[in-house]
Amino acid sequence: MHAKPSVRKAHAAPKLKMRKTLADAGEIARTRAEAEAAIADAQKSNERLREAIDILPQGIVFLDADGRYILCNKKYSEIYHKSADLFQPGAYLKDTLRIGVERGDYPEAEGREEEWIAERLAKLNRPGERHEQTLSDGRVILIEERKTADGGVIGLRVDITELKEREASFRLLFDSNPVPMIVCAQDDERIISVNEAALSHYGYAREDFQKLKISHIQAFEAEAPWTGEQTNEERVARTWKHIKADGSLIDVAIYSRHLIFDDKPAVLLALMDITERKRAESRLAFMAQHDGLTGLPNRILLRQKLDELLVGTRRSGEKVAVLFLDLDNFKAINDTLGHAIGDKLLKGVTKRLKSSLREEDSVARLGSDEFAVVQAGVQQPEDVAFLARRLIDAVGEPYLFDGHTIVSGASIGIAIAPGDGDDAEKLLKNADMALSRAKSEGNATFSFFESEMDARAQTRRRIEIDLRDAIENSVLQPYYQPLVDLKSGRITGFEALVRWPHPERGMIPPGEFIPVAEETGLINAVGGLMLRRACTDAARWPDDVRVAVNLSPLQFRVGNLLSVVMDALKHSGLPPKRLELEITETLLMDKSDQVLATLHALRALGVRISMDDFGTGYSSLSYLRSFPFDKIKIDQSFVRGLASNHDAQAIVRSIVSLGKGLGVTITAEGVETEAELSCLRAEGCDEGQGFLFSRARANGEITQLLLAQCEANAQAGNALVA
Ligand code: C2E
Ligand code: MG
Ligand code: MG
Repeated sequence: MHAKPSVRKAHAAPKLKMRKTLADAGEIARTRAEAEAAIADAQKSNERLREAIDILPQGIVFLDADGRYILCNKKYSEIYHKSADLFQPGAYLKDTLRIGVERGDYPEAEGREEEWIAERLAKLNRPGERHEQTLSDGRVILIEERKTADGGVIGLRVDITELKEREASFRLLFDSNPVPMIVCAQDDERIISVNEAALSHYGYAREDFQKLKISHIQAFEAEAPWTGEQTNEERVARTWKHIKADGSLIDVAIYSRHLIFDDKPAVLLALMDITERKRAESRLAFMAQHDGLTGLPNRILLRQKLDELLVGTRRSGEKVAVLFLDLDNFKAINDTLGHAIGDKLLKGVTKRLKSSLREEDSVARLGSDEFAVVQAGVQQPEDVAFLARRLIDAVGEPYLFDGHTIVSGASIGIAIAPGDGDDAEKLLKNADMALSRAKSEGNATFSFFESEMDARAQTRRRIEIDLRDAIENSVLQPYYQPLVDLKSGRITGFEALVRWPHPERGMIPPGEFIPVAEETGLINAVGGLMLRRACTDAARWPDDVRVAVNLSPLQFRVGNLLSVVMDALKHSGLPPKRLELEITETLLMDKSDQVLATLHALRALGVRISMDDFGTGYSSLSYLRSFPFDKIKIDQSFVRGLASNHDAQAIVRSIVSLGKGLGVTITAEGVETEAELSCLRAEGCDEGQGFLFSRARANGEITQLLLAQCEANAQAGNALVA
């Protein structure tokens, strides 16, 4: 198998001379023994050397200066197992190579055998150079040879087949990977290899690409992505801006891995183009923080920016104002001219607001027609008032859309930090409160927040909470105030007025909680409850006594009013003609078809409809024409002091004659004195209601009142004063 030891004899045996003395003989014997011992020693160390080289994982071969085998180890024989029996000491390498070539052991030699052998042998004279050799069974052997001191060669053989396979599959994975990949030298950061995907993605020609350093394709960073203190996760999570051949920038996430490439430390970079994702992300982020129609920041972003600004000004002591702006007639424009015009108006308003602001101020859209302006660097309230005026004027200028000239107005509520709040939430809330005040004072005005507004708002909140409770626990109840026929003095009916006995605050008047109920939608529950109770109570009264129930315009918005009324009638058994519903002019102001349809349907049931508080609203005669009312109630403000007020008398007179003309009953509210009563009688008013006759009373007292009426009638008097 492997080579036997090749040991040169150190000495030839000395020739015996003719004359030998004993001493000579002894000397010879000693010398011989020494020689034999030396030979044995040499053999031993030779064997040790062989044992040592046999356990090495690489193949090792020693050749003499003529290219003849001296010794090779086990691994060497295994690598070239086909020629192993040829590796005898003294055999020429060139001969074993030739035999191998003839047998086809070296596919690289095919067709150029002699040449190949010559090249192979020439390499023996270029020691230190590594080369690879492929064998017929596909194995790849790495060869490294060095000169020995005596002119021979020591050769190393490593089977690198597996390594080569791994390298090949890495190559394949690298080259055909759809993810752009780059290999950089770790030391000088030069790009040493790029795959096809990287070429097509970045657009550089291969030879140009492989001349660049990684920093050359980085738009902002000078350092290579694998350097620095970051952990691998941090690096991967980071986004890099890379420059493509055409100069465009892309966002890239980089996965890096250290490896050895061509024997040198290198870094493999996989480059994930996340430009689209980034773009989508920032689009989403923009959408989440901006209003789609106007592109303005929305409430979320405004709050965030405002809070940041406030933190900054807390130190500088500077004031910041929030101007809460609301368009005065947006709903009407939207409803009558359509949403397209409404949208154009909002965009137009946005444009004007923006152009009225300095760079350091900002504007956001908070809701349908609500905007907020943040004014920085406020020195005194006048600065804010000045801006508010300017904004109102700018928004108030007419707009021209699609041939329509549109005039809109704005009202503004103002809160100033830090006095009116030191966070965005509070400032916006207080500015909103100031806006309600501005609105109540009329259109196109502004109002500063005042702390009593806050107190008022808190009271309202308290009322809302308690009211929910009161509704749930049936605390609310109707009181009844009589309506008296002024000719006969007879009670024709009662108006049901809601009463709220509050455990702590006593009887809360409806004027305090009806508006809250309307704002919060609780009015539907209150109204439904009043209808049911009033119908049930009235069903037990005499047949010719009616009950009147007040309706809020909001009850018409829900859309189920008709069925609520029908239910109340059905459950109580009250004939519809004994139910009167009181509405106010505000209900008819928006002239909605739905409202009129509901009114007609109610009237068709046989229910009577009254116009309440006539004279306090627009008192437009067109309202009276738009619906056939059964009754008009003159507001108490015209009745007050009627006897001595000629204007009021003239008004009452004209309403009474209007009533006569239309065939409608006229009722005077708030009759408190005999003088008022006689005046009303003189003007020919049909009915009266007021403290002169009776205050509103609990249902339990109504029967008594009706009895008292009988007695009073018997005495031909009118007063039912309790
Ligand atoms: P209203 O419908 O005009 O009711 C008449 C109001 O005038 C009642 O006030 C009544 O107590 C008061 N009043 C009657 N006679 C006199 C008088 O001689 N002098 C004076 N100064 N006042 C008199 P009240 O009960 O405080 O109700 C106020 C308003 O609250 C009502 O005005 C009505 O608009 C509303 N309201 C009352 N109950 C309900 C209800 O159940 N539903 C709805 N939606 N509103 C209601
Ligand atoms: Mg009323
Ligand atoms: Mg009234």
